[in-house]
Amino acid sequence: MKSRVIGYKRRIISSNNYWLLIFFLVSIAFGIFNYFLMPQITLKGENREIIDYGTTYTDKGYKATFLHKNVNNLVSIKGTVNTKKIKTYNIIYTVDIGFLKQSIVRKVTVKDISAPKIKVNNKPIYVCPGKENKQVKVVAIDNHDGDISKNVKVKQTKNKIVYTVKDKAGNVTIKKKKIKYEDIKKPTLKLNGSKVITTFLNEEYKDAGASVGDNCDKDLKIKTSNKVDSKKLGEYKVTYSATDKAGNTSTISRTVRVVEHDKIGNVYLTFDDGPRAGTTDVILDILKEEGIKATFFVTNNGPDELIKRIYDEGHTLALHTASHNYAIVYQSVDNYFNDLYSVANRVKRLTGYDSKIIRFPGGSSNTISRRYYNGIMSILTTEVINRGFHYFDWNVDARDAESATKTKEQVYNNVVDKLSKDKVNVVLMHDIKSYTRDALQDIITYGKENGYTFDKISMNTNMIRQKVNN
Ligand SMILES: [Zn+2]
Repeated sequence: MKSRVIGYKRRIISSNNYWLLIFFLVSIAFGIFNYFLMPQITLKGENREIIDYGTTYTDKGYKATFLHKNVNNLVSIKGTVNTKKIKTYNIIYTVDIGFLKQSIVRKVTVKDISAPKIKVNNKPIYVCPGKENKQVKVVAIDNHDGDISKNVKVKQTKNKIVYTVKDKAGNVTIKKKKIKYEDIKKPTLKLNGSKVITTFLNEEYKDAGASVGDNCDKDLKIKTSNKVDSKKLGEYKVTYSATDKAGNTSTISRTVRVVEHDKIGNVYLTFDDGPRAGTTDVILDILKEEGIKATFFVTNNGPDELIKRIYDEGHTLALHTASHNYAIVYQSVDNYFNDLYSVANRVKRLTGYDSKIIRFPGGSSNTISRRYYNGIMSILTTEVINRGFHYFDWNVDARDAESATKTKEQVYNNVVDKLSKDKVNVVLMHDIKSYTRDALQDIITYGKENGYTFDKISMNTNMIRQKVNN
């Protein structure tokens, strides 16, 4: 029994299956060799990838091992993907440890798989009641084909419009838009003339009115509310409003300021660039003694007490910018207003007074601002008025800011020579100068002896302005 079994086995082995066994064993040996003794490489991500035209291709990586150790550093990659060219690319990853090599291929296909984009928003198209929709044009852009607006098919029904576009690769985009027969736009109102106007006391004020337009309606009426009383000094609003047939209303307004006529022969003494201890305080003493009110265009310099004193003693506290630095204030419109509001805040904080009377550093006719911003004075002179300020230049110059002026006699002569009974006299002086301080008494005496009236500038004073040169 025992020997028969052995004999049986021997019979099997010695048959044709012998070679099969050899082959089987060799295969196992080769498998073991391949698994344990050959480098291995596998891909991260898919072996076949499809990516969209024009996008960025990023290799997802690989993992190479040999004898269970990472040998990624021995891998070389052949082939690149140009996502701007439609085709299939082979990326070959080879791990090479000298005499043993193993390779694997990734197939990357670049295709146009993105649908074109039709540029329409989700808002309905509003059409005036009783009118037909004419807005059908849209823009369609495809990632591969580019602008394919001309291929857009438009199907319009009464309440809907459907846009369809197909790119060369067959990707289709459909967009729908509702059509509504409603007027949702307000009428457009525009002022004839300026936003801020000054007019003289007791002179008839003729308002220039406004113009109206509307997307749907013609000949809309403008309702005007004109509160200007030219018999009373002050600021008034003229308001215009218009309503279209759908009930949309627009309103705009204009500011009208009724000011005094120029007081011919009046003298407005104005002092710039201060305050300054040692000069401004003496000037205030003289003015008090003489019972005269003047105007001070102040900066952020000097002691707070003098700002308060100017205000408390009834003079006009006016604004000249905080820094008075041309390179700063005329660098930009924002800079100018930041600087102006800075000194306005100082005045407000110290006195509670909201001053709207200003003088530009160098005057509105200055040309030095061209160095920093071409055309800025044209912008600023309009913008300050729109913001409710009144600006004043001068027509009598003490020339006390010029280096040639060194004595009180010069200051005196420069002023009295230019004073005139035939005009309103706005005198430019600088209260930071000692020779101006010293000339003031004589100037006032001259003025009084020659029948001039001294006054301070107010919001009711007609603006004395020079010609803008920048
Ligand atoms: Zn100045």
